Amino acid sequence: MKIVGVDLGGTNIKAALVDENGEITRQKTTKTLVNEGTEMICNRIIGLIKEIALDEPVKVGIGSPGSIDRENGVIMYANNITALNGVELVRMIKESTGYDAYLENDAKAAALGERWFGSARNIDNFIVLTLGTGVGGGAYTEGHLIVGGHGYGGEIGHMIVDPSGPVCSCGSKGCLETFSSVTGMRKWVKIFQERYPDSLVFKYSGNGPVDAKAIFDAFKEGDRLATLVVRKFNWGLGIGIGSLVNIFNPDLIILSGGISRASDIFLEEVKQVAHEHTYPSLSHSYDIIISELKEKGAILGAASVALERTK
Ligand SMILES: [Zn+2]
Repeated sequence: MKIVGVDLGGTNIKAALVDENGEITRQKTTKTLVNEGTEMICNRIIGLIKEIALDEPVKVGIGSPGSIDRENGVIMYANNITALNGVELVRMIKESTGYDAYLENDAKAAALGERWFGSARNIDNFIVLTLGTGVGGGAYTEGHLIVGGHGYGGEIGHMIVDPSGPVCSCGSKGCLETFSSVTGMRKWVKIFQERYPDSLVFKYSGNGPVDAKAIFDAFKEGDRLATLVVRKFNWGLGIGIGSLVNIFNPDLIILSGGISRASDIFLEEVKQVAHEHTYPSLSHSYDIIISELKEKGAILGAASVALERTK
């Protein structure tokens, strides 16, 4: 059985044909264009699935941001694609294509992807953290993905690591996401920019918004502002991982998502901070690694949703 994996995001929709060994063949990307409304976005998703499937018998796995009603295949709330909130996406796909589709939160899909194709193939207790625009998470305990009673649990990015930290998009303060994501690093750049108006971060960002690359490049040059921001990133992530280890006792913490590829900048310090914040008997019980799936992680995660639900 082949699967069309769909990685639904606020900027792009990516889809690819994936086989049971994780081999990716056909792959296409289209813009989400969130302002064009529900019908247009759904039509683009369905069109992309048809273009990838080419009338072959397939199943469809979708990774979406936000809270998911996985039983009914509905995105309950995604704050970067609000036009899809409450839409019966799985039913629409079935009606338009005839294909069975399965929906999951994208970070939980990434965890499934590690279980099917990545570093967690033989590991029953692990946690995946997706580091990108925000921070997502998926925790596996004794071979099961934790979703909680209503299915919305596991919002690891909104675990509070410092209650006096910056205000988060969720309305709370000092969530992990306000430290260890692109959005979080931008908040810290703003906080420090008055002190360091001549930072290389601004030079490297040009006229666009500050991105992770500009911060990491400036950090490598010893830039003061970038150093403070990276320190906040490391501190938040290390404390967050320390708490996760204390609660879940995982064997492995897998970091994935775009920012994870800059691990040479942050991994050693994050390991150190995490170590300082874990309960003594747990402090040597786990390792923190970078996902080996790299840019394929999101698509393979989406495809894993269909594999997991039909196994
Ligand atoms: Zn939050």
